[in-house]
Amino acid sequence: MGLCDITDIRAILGRHGFHFSKSLGQNFLTDASVPAGIADACGVREVRNVVEVGPGMGCLTAELCQRADKVVAVEIDRALLPVLDETLADYDNVEVVQGDVLETDLKALVEQKFAGGRAVACANLPYYITTPAITALMESGAFEKITVMVQREVARRICAKPGTSDYSAFTIFVQYHAKTEILFDVPADCFVPKPKVDSAVLQLTPLAEPAVETQDEKLFFALVRAAFNMRRKTLVNALGPVLGDSMSKEEITKLVESIGLDARIRGERLSLADFARLADAAVALRKGV
Ligand code: SAM
Repeated sequence: MGLCDITDIRAILGRHGFHFSKSLGQNFLTDASVPAGIADACGVREVRNVVEVGPGMGCLTAELCQRADKVVAVEIDRALLPVLDETLADYDNVEVVQGDVLETDLKALVEQKFAGGRAVACANLPYYITTPAITALMESGAFEKITVMVQREVARRICAKPGTSDYSAFTIFVQYHAKTEILFDVPADCFVPKPKVDSAVLQLTPLAEPAVETQDEKLFFALVRAAFNMRRKTLVNALGPVLGDSMSKEEITKLVESIGLDARIRGERLSLADFARLADAAVALRKGV
């Protein structure tokens, strides 16, 4: 039985009366090299435990089972549970948990299922929850590596450099907390049903300390959000909604210039270190330093 073989996929799913749900982002892999590549790269051989999000009919799960001590797979769709019983019958190191990953306490899940041991996370993520799922996986603090397949443009956005059109507030959020890397691209032809967009496998390695130091993390992210909310405006104008209550436009201009930036610069050109220096300069000004 080939879990990525289109004839076998149709036969197994047909036997269980399963129909793909577009609203649950169900696009299953049909190229066996992709789940094998993800399983090889996700760090499970070293860390031994893995949480998978959305096993579908289990093609990635099976590859993980071959490399891990234990696999816990969180699947929202009850209709897939009997399918997974059949496709993963050969493995005794897998547990399928029915539930919504966005409603799951991932830290508690890892502590409970792996007796406090280390774990990595892996997924071919459903498109409709890409951003909240990545945020939840990162914020859980439960994983040493997070390896996820996402739309190619989202992967590019997360790994983007300052001054590019892909650079966004979400880029900065992810890069603040993790090292980011695109492992490989996966064309739309590798899925059934075929999605409209290509994908890429993204790896996030959470950092022990944030990528940059700032005295006021809340203000740092408020400045980032303001800069990208109005990314076509100059930074000075874009910061008005955050700093304008306590500072005039002239003072915001001076603040921007005080960290060595041109007052006409747009926020999308600032690196994480620039935003951290800006936040710290604003804190110092408030304190009257
Ligand atoms: N891993 C399989 C593969 O690569 O062929 C399936 C991937 S498919 C893109 C996404 C899977 O996530 C589906 O099985 C879907 O039912 C499941 N899913 C969708 N939303 C979910 C959620 N909120 N929590 C957990 N699983 C979810």
